[in-house]
Amino acid sequence: MRAIRRFTVRTVLPAELAALGELVHNLRWSWHPETMDLFSEVDADLWERVGHDPVALLGAVTPARLSELAADRRFLRRLADAADDLREYMTSPRWYQTLPDGARAIAYFSPEYGIAAALPQYSGGLGILAGDHLKAASDLGVPILAVGLLYRHGYFTQSLSPEGWQQEHYPSLDAGGLPLSLLKDADDTPVKIRIGLPDERMLHAQVWVAQVGRVPLLLLDSDVADNDTPARDVTDRLYGGGTDHRLMQELLLGVGGVRAIRAYCKSVGHAEPEVFHTNEGHAGFLGLERIRELTEARLSFDEAWEAVRAGTVFTTHTPVPAGIDRFPVEMIERHFGGSNAWPTVPVDRILALGAESDPHRFNMAVMGMRLSQRVNGVSRLHGQVSREMFKDLWPGFDLDEVPIGSITNGVHAPTWVGREFMELADRELPSLIERARGWDGIQKIPDGDIWQIRGTLRRQLVEGARVRLRRSWRERGASDAELGWIDDALDPDVLTIGFARRVPSYKRLTLMLRDPERLTELLLDPDKPVQIVIAGKAHPADEGGKKLIQQIVKFADQQKVRHRIVFLPDYDMALGRLMVQGCDVWLNNPLRPLEASGTSGMKSALNGGLNLSIRDGWWDEWYDGSNGWAIPTADGVTDTDRRDELEAAALYDLIEHEVSDRFYDRPGDGLPRRWMEMVKHTLASLGPKVLAGRMLRDYVVTLYNPAAGAARALSADGYAPAKAFAAWRLRVAKAWPGVRVEHAEATGVGDTPEVGSSIELHATIALGDLEPADVQVEAVYGKVGPHDELVRPAYAKLEMASAEDDGRAHYTGVVPLDHTGAFGYTVRVVPHHPLVVTPAELGLITVPEEPAGMTNGTLR
Ligand SMILES: *Cc1c(COP(=O)(O)O)cnc(C)c1O
Repeated sequence: MRAIRRFTVRTVLPAELAALGELVHNLRWSWHPETMDLFSEVDADLWERVGHDPVALLGAVTPARLSELAADRRFLRRLADAADDLREYMTSPRWYQTLPDGARAIAYFSPEYGIAAALPQYSGGLGILAGDHLKAASDLGVPILAVGLLYRHGYFTQSLSPEGWQQEHYPSLDAGGLPLSLLKDADDTPVKIRIGLPDERMLHAQVWVAQVGRVPLLLLDSDVADNDTPARDVTDRLYGGGTDHRLMQELLLGVGGVRAIRAYCKSVGHAEPEVFHTNEGHAGFLGLERIRELTEARLSFDEAWEAVRAGTVFTTHTPVPAGIDRFPVEMIERHFGGSNAWPTVPVDRILALGAESDPHRFNMAVMGMRLSQRVNGVSRLHGQVSREMFKDLWPGFDLDEVPIGSITNGVHAPTWVGREFMELADRELPSLIERARGWDGIQKIPDGDIWQIRGTLRRQLVEGARVRLRRSWRERGASDAELGWIDDALDPDVLTIGFARRVPSYKRLTLMLRDPERLTELLLDPDKPVQIVIAGKAHPADEGGKKLIQQIVKFADQQKVRHRIVFLPDYDMALGRLMVQGCDVWLNNPLRPLEASGTSGMKSALNGGLNLSIRDGWWDEWYDGSNGWAIPTADGVTDTDRRDELEAAALYDLIEHEVSDRFYDRPGDGLPRRWMEMVKHTLASLGPKVLAGRMLRDYVVTLYNPAAGAARALSADGYAPAKAFAAWRLRVAKAWPGVRVEHAEATGVGDTPEVGSSIELHATIALGDLEPADVQVEAVYGKVGPHDELVRPAYAKLEMASAEDDGRAHYTGVVPLDHTGAFGYTVRVVPHHPLVVTPAELGLITVPEEPAGMTNGTLR
């Protein structure tokens, strides 16, 4: 029989142990080994049995043991120290507090969060990144207030059938068994969020608060009695249902999220956010809710839009158009129109924000970009790919000017780095993990010290893998008598390659199986054997992905190789940690450029692992020729089968001739000196870059604080500047068709222009109804291609020399001839206003009607 409801009865802690409750309810324990040691002391066996989940630990520990601890002076002293340490961590000024004019608070929205294995509210990279973002923000004192959803079944857990087919399970979580507390208002009643739905329905949600170090994380939960069944199921699982379900989740996250923030700030007296950051398009409705707030406070839609845009940051994570979050237009119309419409926010304005090339689709990424003044991708390459993908939103502008920048992802070292390494670093190079400089000091650490830790971590992986392998085989129906071989599966001294990730086809889980004989030879090489540890989940609806897993499992099931290649089910943060710490080599072979960034390879690098990867995402940017290996990509080859073949062959060659040669080269004292050289170089060169702290600093300095400044500038004096700016923008947009480049010519070109000289440009611009101050006139110049197209041109402002009564103005400026070879120039007019960040922002541009009339000279 199944229970209709479940809840968790919490332990009552003796008064002496009250601080234990405090420690459990702040997730900082998940990256603070000393606090985990203390939990382990409560009951070491139990701590292992509950999988390092302190809430479960306190739920299961016996009252007798608690009484014993309450009388244990040594334990109480350690508890007091740990509690003091946490309080100090929560209140002491940190990096952010040294900055002038920082945003008072920043709201961060994400559909998933990977904070700890004990809070399974993530499916993959997006969530893990969000978790690392919050932890690094906490460490640096960045005042983030985060919002997400609480999924009753989280993401599925994975096991295998006897045939190697992925099985999904959705264990029920209940908030009482998680480190969460219910948000209540000042008179102690639970806060209720409400969102109107079509047909007089209402979506209700309560709000749970998780404390991630200094960062509060608000999680909305629709599993409340006020809701009808479909509304109750809105937060049932992560990425579970159909389009309607997804829309409801996104409404709750975006619209409900803003309402939850307002309730939280009011209830606990927290500063209201000045900046709103949307981690991927799913939370994009937050911008609409903020427009609603401002329009109800008497701003027009356009004024509110400007005020919201200034303070919004949007991060895109998807390099494939098919991966973009979209809804049928009718669905948005139904939710934001008719009897459910918001009186001050017309539905046609909403539809226009999400309009894309397909008139039937409402595009969340496009809306995100139109509602955000600042947009970024998650690696340099992904920034380029995104500019190409979204360039049509800014027609007329060169690719490099499409206003999408990039901040490369990072990882939170205390979460992912083996404790042995953290302690070694602390001993030899104190607080290295917090620093951007000084990583060269790694070179001074003796090879033997690092090699010994690598050995310990590899051994822990081998032992952990055997436990998981045995559990998996038991689930697949094997008896213990058949499983003796598992005692010797994997070898703590053999070169270990790891491959763990979600299993969409572009990640090519099975590339290594391309030539099974060749792979078998590598695994069984008598002198230089290789072993491979693999993990990954396929999306429940992705039959193709499940087939790939089955192929890997079938291969690994073979008796002759099963001690050298294993598939470990249920890839989650705990397994991820084990693997990135224990593997010597981290393999990644996506189809370039479909991996936006990837972060698992960064975790490996920080643990002294070496990356063996296609140059995609972050690796394209930071591979330097000696911090790992680049698998040559055949990304010009359109035949995918041929491409796989070429790239797989290159992979086998690299493993055989480079990777294992180096690993097994042990001259003299038995240490792999050439390997260690590469490991140290990896740590020294990548260490400071791959940290989430570096990522957070980049976000703060280049996006959050400028956005806070812009938002403040627009909201001053009761939003007077927002009103003025909106009026200006409307006026300029209306008058823009009257702007023309009437004439442009260069003097000083001569017959044989030479590099280092310059030319003078003169342009006559018809401004129509605009004033000279409304525009900027620029020379665009540089190298030209075969069709007179300017290749990565430079821009120089032209100054107004004179204006005429009829709206014409004359401009001049000097263009340096700084390239030899084919050189060209033209003139363009773009809007100008101090609150515009980039020329492309408003999407308005005028160029000469006949660019062919411009002279191209060839320089010697
Ligand atoms: C780090 C991590 C990811 C993301 O890594 P990728 O390199 O982007 O695949 C996904 N899942 C888990 C459990 C992780 O730890």
